[in-house]
Amino acid sequence: MKVPCVVVDRTDGEETRQTLATADVLADDWQITVEDGTLYLPVTDPDAVPDEYTIQYHEVPAREQPTMPADLVDFDVSYERIGDIVIIDEDDADRAQQLADAIVESDLPVTTVLNRASKIKGELRVRDWEVLAGNSTETVHREYGFEYALDLDSVYFSPRLATERHRVTEQITAAEQVLDMFAGVGPFVIPAAAQGATTVGVDKNEVAIQYLNENAARNSVSDHVTAIAGDVRAVTDEYTDWADRLMMNLPHSADQFVDTALALAGDECLIHYYDIQHEDDPFGPAKQLFQEHAEEYSVTVENERIVRSYAPHELNVVLDIKVSR
Ligand code: SAM
Repeated sequence: MKVPCVVVDRTDGEETRQTLATADVLADDWQITVEDGTLYLPVTDPDAVPDEYTIQYHEVPAREQPTMPADLVDFDVSYERIGDIVIIDEDDADRAQQLADAIVESDLPVTTVLNRASKIKGELRVRDWEVLAGNSTETVHREYGFEYALDLDSVYFSPRLATERHRVTEQITAAEQVLDMFAGVGPFVIPAAAQGATTVGVDKNEVAIQYLNENAARNSVSDHVTAIAGDVRAVTDEYTDWADRLMMNLPHSADQFVDTALALAGDECLIHYYDIQHEDDPFGPAKQLFQEHAEEYSVTVENERIVRSYAPHELNVVLDIKVSR
């Protein structure tokens, strides 16, 4: 079918595409096409195209729109993707199966659909799953250019913290000694190691530590990573006064590990402390906690921010706390 197109030399293509996109006249339903060094950019309304451009009616192929799960069911859908696993949270069994079928039938690259079957629980922060499609809870997730192998049945992982992890890890320099007290499969440790830092990841979950080692190798940073399986309280002898930077991502119970953090902290240490608190005073409890515990340190909160909403009136927050001896 012939549609109105802006016609330009191929070398002017990207600049023209950006101008037309800014003017909101590019037609999404048709493909931009090149023929003999000339570019045809389909537009929605020829009259809205800036005067300097030439318009021609030209034959261009239709753009294939991917089929999404929402196109295949008649209710609102939400889901989360970790690698090739899609996670849903549906109480109604019929709806859950309908949604799982729609996800598999859609164009999403998916092998397994899991429904949340419990809250995140216990010290290891894993949950139960109902498998609605496929049969493997293991996958490889990509985040900011890094690959993380993980098994959702035995380790904690949440893609919702991706932006926050990136905020923290892009600050890290090669000169630093970084210790993640609750490292999981390594989404803080691996990018920190890739910045050249000397990193230690500790986790009580042995399976998470196996994946952390695998992920260090996968991302070619094994030389910069020490992975330790066990309670982080047990590493304070070996790493006392060691860390320039600590990650404390164990909301709900991190308050029980402040003394451990202070034992691990070097003379100057930046602590990324994650907390879940009521929206009325989300940062106050953490500040008070550090003031009370860090007697031989001066404590400065360099940054405080809301990471995400956790539950009605409850916020997941982070404080970047500088402790100086
Ligand atoms: N930092 C990782 C991330 O962002 O994906 C994992 C965070 S997850 C919320 C908390 C982790 O702390 C879990 O993997 C759990 O096994 C670990 N953990 C809980 N108690 C611990 C302890 N006493 N010592 C070391 N690790 C612990």
